[in-house]
Amino acid sequence: MAKEDSGTTPMMAQYLALKAQYPDALLFYRMGDFYELFFDDAVAAAAALDIALTTRGKHQGADIKMCGVPHHAAEGYLLTLIRKGFRVAVGEQMESPAEARKRGYKAVVKRDVVRLVTPGTLTEDSLLDARAHNYLAAYCRVRDSGALAWVDVSTGDFHISECTPVMLPPLLARLAPREVLCQPPEEEALRELAAELDGVTTPLSAASFDSANAETRLKALFGVSALDAFGNFSRAELGALGGIVAYLDLTQRGKLPALRPPLRESAGRAMQIDAATRRNLELTRALSGGRAGSLLAAIDRTLTGAGARLLETRLQAPSTDLATIHARQSVLGYFVENRNVSEDVRDCLRRLPDIERALTRLMLDRGGPRDLGALRDAIAQAQVVRDFFCTTMQPDTLRAALDALTGHDDLAALLGQALQQDLPMLARDGGFIASGFDAELDEARQLRDEGRGVIGRLQAQYTADTGIQSLKIKHNNVLGYFIETTATHAEKMLNPPLSAQFIHRQTTANAVRFTTVELSTLETRIANAGAQALEIEKTLFGVLRGAVQERAAQLLQTARAIAEIDLAAGLADLAVEGDWTCPQVDSSRAFAITAGRHPVVEAALRAEGKPPFVANDCDLGADGDEARPIWLLTGPNMAGKSTYLRQNALIALLAQMGAYVPAEAAHIGMVDQLFSRVGAADDLARGRSTFMVEMVETAAILNQAGERALVILDEIGRGTATYDGLSIAWACLEHLHDGNKCRGLFATHYHELTALAGRLKGLRNATVKVREWQNDVIFLHEVVEGAADRSYGVQVARLAGLPDAVVERARAVLDLLEEAERSGGKSARLVDDLPLFSSPAASTPPAKRDTALQDRLKTILPDTLSPREALDLVYELRDLAQDADN
Ligand code: ATP
Repeated sequence: MAKEDSGTTPMMAQYLALKAQYPDALLFYRMGDFYELFFDDAVAAAAALDIALTTRGKHQGADIKMCGVPHHAAEGYLLTLIRKGFRVAVGEQMESPAEARKRGYKAVVKRDVVRLVTPGTLTEDSLLDARAHNYLAAYCRVRDSGALAWVDVSTGDFHISECTPVMLPPLLARLAPREVLCQPPEEEALRELAAELDGVTTPLSAASFDSANAETRLKALFGVSALDAFGNFSRAELGALGGIVAYLDLTQRGKLPALRPPLRESAGRAMQIDAATRRNLELTRALSGGRAGSLLAAIDRTLTGAGARLLETRLQAPSTDLATIHARQSVLGYFVENRNVSEDVRDCLRRLPDIERALTRLMLDRGGPRDLGALRDAIAQAQVVRDFFCTTMQPDTLRAALDALTGHDDLAALLGQALQQDLPMLARDGGFIASGFDAELDEARQLRDEGRGVIGRLQAQYTADTGIQSLKIKHNNVLGYFIETTATHAEKMLNPPLSAQFIHRQTTANAVRFTTVELSTLETRIANAGAQALEIEKTLFGVLRGAVQERAAQLLQTARAIAEIDLAAGLADLAVEGDWTCPQVDSSRAFAITAGRHPVVEAALRAEGKPPFVANDCDLGADGDEARPIWLLTGPNMAGKSTYLRQNALIALLAQMGAYVPAEAAHIGMVDQLFSRVGAADDLARGRSTFMVEMVETAAILNQAGERALVILDEIGRGTATYDGLSIAWACLEHLHDGNKCRGLFATHYHELTALAGRLKGLRNATVKVREWQNDVIFLHEVVEGAADRSYGVQVARLAGLPDAVVERARAVLDLLEEAERSGGKSARLVDDLPLFSSPAASTPPAKRDTALQDRLKTILPDTLSPREALDLVYELRDLAQDADN
């Protein structure tokens, strides 16, 4: 950015001063109907928005680059810039040019930045997804402890949780914040995490996270003298909360949205699910990237934005608190049983506007008459929703929500009387206050619209007052409005008592002209009536806004109640239509599912008119000797192994979010961690190959899964050579069984692993049944106890359309290889052009060859070695390794 110099115009000086305060943002500088951008900002914005770059005058001898966007279309441009990673400081004119001129002919219109637009602080409907949260998070670390606070500025949801560095990635993966605030030392580590979730990081000064400052800010925000009512916060928690409030203060320039008091989420109250598992299970996005095909899309029957957002929140964070789960089940059960209430309510919800977002805009002084109208309609509809419940017994768990639907009668009456039915977007356009609400406004409008009529009525009144029938009220450019009468009648008006009211202005040849205080006031008012009507409307807008603000906390409760009801009614609809069942969730280690289905695959098969989904059981539970917490699933390609693995994970997740599940019966003992490693994907951008990604994810699972974890592993070890892969799969399975001791499903094509069931007592073999018919394979999708003997890969390849010649050749090669295996590997040499391998001995771990090396390694005491001894040891280890290879 160029520096100010003596040749700088006053306007440019003003621009540069503003820009200096926001060096990291693009400055939108309001000039009349346009926001203009200058210098480097113009170059960057013109490229990002694909708009023309021009020049305007010179600065320090060089052309000033410039581009601009029309004020009325600014939101669209803002959205593009925010999506492309920019932050935008919006500089507005704080006075009119006329006001500026009063200070001197050359005075520059005052301008100031009214808002810093960043990805985490959006509030406009056009910039937001109505059905998803838009979180701003702040991470604060104080020595060994840490905390994450997060807020959705557009809805007022505000949360805080203790968060150690290890817990941070899964928590961020769950929230997917658009922006993460942090202290500069943390930024580098956080940047990569945030970017993976399509978010950005914003470093803030240490003062923003200072816990003492935070306390002051929070007390001011919530208007309390102590924070005790919200809980006892650690220094890290206070720092994170304070970071959020400081940033809102900075970006909203002093105006703060209606935030709910921060809700503490205890660590461990939500099922831990890492980013890879979320991706693999396609919770909110399908692997293809979009929402379609995800679990969220399959179960979302909500009808309001708030309901949809709550569904996503619950899906992202299934509960581990039994009381919470049971309470949600009871609400859902009510809607399942009272279908008529549910249908009536859902019909009404369709017409319910978004309270939270309208309220936030009003609080930030960014809202318009339509936001007031949205609240008016929402309050009225909420009352209608409440009335539907009057005829039935409601569960206790629903009572609080129902109570929160009402209690806004005074506000409803006020908005109902004040607002017109159809409302303009912006208050400054006027025309939104209903007639009859404010006498002064009605009069101003009347004057504006029917100035002549008002004058006519005044004339009739003066005629009656004076008894002079020929009295007229006329208008000319010199006198403006005046009362005229003939010279004959003038005498009467020039003398008391009428002379007290009628003031003489002019006498012409034929007439005498008068005015009255009333007429000259009226005249001024007619002249200003339009502007005055607008001003009154603006004032009334402020009054209504104030009334809404006063009730912000209760309105947010109503919004939350609507979201709860919408979500429960939607899930009930899904459960009834899809024949889902209420799962039994408790603190046991049970995992018994009868006739479970995969909600997304089942819906897809139905939509495509394909044969119905085949339901399958799963039982990983039971304590004691009978327990078989890990199932090893073998079976042909395309048989349905991955589907089966995922459906069981999804059923556990649905159960703990408090929903019904697609099964005939389900008994889930609380799962506190869910891990999945399904399929393979390169992550070349981060320099990881398919196999590397697979191993990183597997390592995370083996290192973290506890006894209450549910782990699903699909085809571990497929990305490398057969023996390496088999060895890794073998060792992982053993580790899950002996080390992690969790419940798990493990699918594999390494049939050799089935032999482990003889040794690991908690392991059960299961397979997916197929039938062979005339060299083809028919998929039955039925999971039964036992082990598969083969994978039918060649048959599946034929179904996939591999050329006949290739299929035939593959079949021949397979016959030879199988023959070789049967004869211990000798006849494999018949196949000249194939690599040879023999099968490992059943039930023997294959990776034994480096045992000597490992044993030696274990005996090393590094601290006792001299440099010389260390070198000798390196030689010794190399020799051992070479021996193992031979
Ligand atoms: P591979 O070993 O090749 O990865 P897989 O055994 O994991 O295959 P899936 O991908 O789970 O097989 O399933 C293949 C297809 O079979 C699915 O896309 C689905 O259409 C169908 N399918 C799977 N399970 C069922 C089921 N229980 N009922 C009906 N169709 C099913």
